[in-house]
Amino acid sequence: MRSIRVWARLLGLRGTVIEEVNVNDAGEGTEVVVAVRPGWRERGRCGICGRRAGRFDRGGGRRRWRALDLGTSLCWIEADAPRVCCSKHGVVVARVPWARHDSRFTRAFEDQCCWLAVNCSKKAVAELMRCSWRTVGSILERVCGEARLKVDLLSGLTSIGIDEISYRRGQRYLTVVVDHHSGRLVWAAPGRDRQTVLSFFDALGQERCKEIESVSCDMASWISSAVAEAVPDAQRCVDPFHVIGLATDALDEVRRELWREARREKNLTLAKDLKGARFCVWKNPENLTDRQAQKLAVIGKLNGPLYRAYLLKEQLRQIYRSATYEEAEALLDAWLAWARRCRLPAFTKLARTITAQRDGILAAIRLGLSNARVEQINTQIRLITRRAFGFHSADALIALAMLTLSGLCPPLPDRVK
Ligand SMILES: [Zn+2]
Repeated sequence: MRSIRVWARLLGLRGTVIEEVNVNDAGEGTEVVVAVRPGWRERGRCGICGRRAGRFDRGGGRRRWRALDLGTSLCWIEADAPRVCCSKHGVVVARVPWARHDSRFTRAFEDQCCWLAVNCSKKAVAELMRCSWRTVGSILERVCGEARLKVDLLSGLTSIGIDEISYRRGQRYLTVVVDHHSGRLVWAAPGRDRQTVLSFFDALGQERCKEIESVSCDMASWISSAVAEAVPDAQRCVDPFHVIGLATDALDEVRRELWREARREKNLTLAKDLKGARFCVWKNPENLTDRQAQKLAVIGKLNGPLYRAYLLKEQLRQIYRSATYEEAEALLDAWLAWARRCRLPAFTKLARTITAQRDGILAAIRLGLSNARVEQINTQIRLITRRAFGFHSADALIALAMLTLSGLCPPLPDRVK
């Protein structure tokens, strides 16, 4: 094989003519600079739409694109970057077969970056690829943008979940939509208000809105009012995850109130016990360690109100494990009756909320909405928002979430998926 062909193979370049390869000393290591030009089929095309377009001028002259490292050396692709005049997009830089429009990196480099960002730690990606995490963010945006044009994530939706996710330590919010059937994230946008939810239904379009049978969400009115407006015939459900979350919050409120009271009365042992009780009352009983289970038994003996609150939370959780819908309905009503007269303000308040949402809560059970899945995707998005810290925009965070949870992540370069 001629050496030029070997280079083309090694670099994974298609539709490209290699003119020259130079190996230079650069800083601490060596760098390989590969001078190329697009093959004749690829020449003179618009960088945005790829249609044939007449040459406009030389543009910025010679340009370099970072390519994947070759062995231990840094590698660059170097070529002219002329501009063309597209009938639709005006004067733009001509398309090149080795890189996406407006990028300083090759396709293979960007694909690998995405794969790593989805599968490895931030530090590992930035260090291995020798670029900043912020740069990784803009690469993710570009790759995700391209992938979203090719795949229609919104087709065939019948059962969806809408949720809000906070990021930047609760300063900002995303609204996300998941497909309950595939368990995939299908849409995300910054903001948490009625308008954001409505813009999802706009993107879905009137025809496909009619196909939506059920929508699950939390109890926030900004979501449910938008859902009622856009898909009036769909069954609204309350995510089990949020119901249990509210019970956990109420339990914590009871514990804190008792702790404050114990401190007021200078009952320091009780105060300490209550503080330590946090984890064992939060956890689900099957996950308790032996020590935590013992502690729970002590709470059972010593502290009536806290134990009652704990049982209320657990009982509410049991409703989602009922064998039949009828059983769940009976359990929920029994729970409501108990919570209303439990003399714990946090739970009587919760009982009022749950009474108001009873239909939606039962609908989730009737439709067999799997809580495990909703909670899992919720947890995953939360983890991603933490990793996305350092990106310059919400779009980069959304791109990382979509690439990870929508099945859009490209395979590693030159491998069959
Ligand atoms: Zn064009």
